[in-house]
Amino acid sequence: MKLLIDECWEYQLLAYPNPVVGAMVVKDGAMIGVGIHKEAGTPHAEVLAIKNSFYKLTSNEDILKLENSNDIHDFLYQNHNNIFEDCEIYSTLEPCNHYGKTPPCSKLLEIMNFKRVIVGANDFGQNSNGGNKLLKDSNIKVTENILNNDSIALLKPFSKWIENKPFVFFKYAQTLNGAITGGYISCQKSLELVHKLRDKIDLLVIGGDTVRIDRPTLDTRFIENGNNPDILIYSRQKNFDKSIPLFDVPNREVFIENNLDRIKEYKLVMFEGGDKFLNLIKDKIDALLVLNSTSLKNRNNMKIDLDLKLDNMYQNDKDIVMWFQKVTY
Ligand SMILES: [Zn+2]
Repeated sequence: MKLLIDECWEYQLLAYPNPVVGAMVVKDGAMIGVGIHKEAGTPHAEVLAIKNSFYKLTSNEDILKLENSNDIHDFLYQNHNNIFEDCEIYSTLEPCNHYGKTPPCSKLLEIMNFKRVIVGANDFGQNSNGGNKLLKDSNIKVTENILNNDSIALLKPFSKWIENKPFVFFKYAQTLNGAITGGYISCQKSLELVHKLRDKIDLLVIGGDTVRIDRPTLDTRFIENGNNPDILIYSRQKNFDKSIPLFDVPNREVFIENNLDRIKEYKLVMFEGGDKFLNLIKDKIDALLVLNSTSLKNRNNMKIDLDLKLDNMYQNDKDIVMWFQKVTY
């Protein structure tokens, strides 16, 4: 389960407003197939894990041609032949129990008749919970909520979305010794991650000084068909040179304001900046994303005091990506 959660963190926020969910089918203690729900509108993690496992167990290539969740459900209903009855399935989140665009995963697990279902965190979405109960009512053994504390940070953006509150995080890039100035610090893969995140957020907040000095574009050019977020320039001084590229990006609104009230109108908000900006707004954020390069540079370093708790870290090509939450006393 810990491995699944770690894998999910590599896609954190990219399935927004859905949570990133991981699932894994196990037979006789060996992993058969894994699925990660990493983009809204694609099949859920359990469906992908079962699809991959079906192919592994049967070598039937027909299922590999199916991308649509409904088609995978139908195919499995007709062809499963009870091959999963001696398998267990792990899922980081309680299987959904809601007929939406696709039938619920709870129904699929029930029909596949798994020996046991192991759930990381019980679901708190009103439309989707009840999956565990449906399975137990069908005499499937369910081990619930085994990693609730570990997975709760991963699910925080989803829980804020359910509460109708924005999820707000601050992103910055630094070298191993905390230098934050002097051109691009991150590797190409981390720059792409930032652009994937900009595609998912709906508001990007940046300090006025950064806009004046860096003259940024703040778009999504490193990925295909990315949406460009609205921009809030947090500044007392309202005059900006409108030839700065960020003002020229299509399909975006740019606000210049000396308060952060606008955040409440948005769902997913990213701040980008350095230590001065972070110091100023640190009480407003839910999470901190640090892209740590593995180089050392003799430049200006982060000057800030902030107590953090590490939620996850992983290697992203040449960089280390770290997700933190603030320590609250
Ligand atoms: Zn589902």
